[in-house]
Amino acid sequence: MTLRFASRLDNVETSAIRELFKLLGKPGIISFAGGFPDAAMFDVDGVQQAANAALKEEPGAALQYGATEGYQPFREQIASFMAGKGVQNLAPEQLITTTGSQQALDLLGKTMISPGDKVIVEGPTFLATIQCFRLYGAEVISAPIDEHGVITEELERLIAQHKPKLVYLVPTFGNPSGALLSLERRKQVLEMAVRHQTLVVEDDPYGDLYFDAPPPPSMLALSHSVPGSREYLAHCGSMSKVLSPGLRLGWLIAPAELLAKCVMCKQFSDAHTSTFAQATAAQYLKAGRMPATLARVRTTYAARSKAMGDALRSHLGDAVRFVQPQGGMFIWVQLTGANGQEKDGNALAKRAIEQGVAFVPGTPFFAQNPDPSTLRLSFATADIPKIEEGMARLAKAF
Ligand code: PMP
Repeated sequence: MTLRFASRLDNVETSAIRELFKLLGKPGIISFAGGFPDAAMFDVDGVQQAANAALKEEPGAALQYGATEGYQPFREQIASFMAGKGVQNLAPEQLITTTGSQQALDLLGKTMISPGDKVIVEGPTFLATIQCFRLYGAEVISAPIDEHGVITEELERLIAQHKPKLVYLVPTFGNPSGALLSLERRKQVLEMAVRHQTLVVEDDPYGDLYFDAPPPPSMLALSHSVPGSREYLAHCGSMSKVLSPGLRLGWLIAPAELLAKCVMCKQFSDAHTSTFAQATAAQYLKAGRMPATLARVRTTYAARSKAMGDALRSHLGDAVRFVQPQGGMFIWVQLTGANGQEKDGNALAKRAIEQGVAFVPGTPFFAQNPDPSTLRLSFATADIPKIEEGMARLAKAF
């Protein structure tokens, strides 16, 4: 029998990363490939207490079907969490709970993209977003970035040229770039959104994971200072990188009309996000455990990021170039080819596996014009001795 699959699948390939992950089962591999947070950082006691409280105080609601928009106590906690990050006047009704921020991206794709529409993303960007938007038939266009995030002059040129349905950015400690969009550029993007009447999607799962100093306010927080910009801004948040990705909790803040359409689509998709997960997270936030957890994760990742940067410099010297990240989970590395050294991330990835170390080559993260001399290293999951050993192995792979 030959199944006749939907033509929308013609536009997408299975991810190169998935293929690579198959090799990671090899014993003894040190992996910098994943995008996972470190499971050792999970506040298991805190989540257990929160789950118990949810079952004790609100069992009927926590185990029952719920509203598509989200469980109200969770939405209230998120609204006050966002207020703590400078987002003014956010009513719980202005956000919906999503099943991970990944679902928010899917809902935005579903509500905004018709086949043949153009969207602009950063080159490089989060791979699943490229795939998701392509599944809805989008032509995905890449805007170049530098260490301060997307280059706004280029972005505006591309917006004027392509008139995209939306612009998708990960402005704070991007995946995979680690880049941090400067305050000035954040304001410029908001002004651009208004000028060109184009939806900008700010995906912000990493903003809380800063090391020495907080990043500039999110574009959502800045939007009150750019008149009209809130009407063209969607913001995706996530509990995944700090509390737990397994809970599958994210949220979407968007203009009312768009949010209503997302709710409609979500209704037909998963009806609502797990009420038990939402009630648990709401209890967790209410108990006030988040600040301590955040502090612990920030300190650990900061030390690992520094250790990885130091080890890269000492083991690989001028064979690599990178910007030391100020937060997030990733170092984005450029192979320089200095002294005839390997310059192809894909070739290096294969040899690295033979040496017992894994990372993701950079090419899949580009929607257009892939740069084969790039790679992404995650410093989140390996401890410092493993990071040092891993970098020594990487040097051998060269
Ligand atoms: N956006 C970005 C930029 C990400 O890196 C990730 C996780 N890798 C997600 C969204 C999805 O996260 P989740 O669905 O777990 O909230």
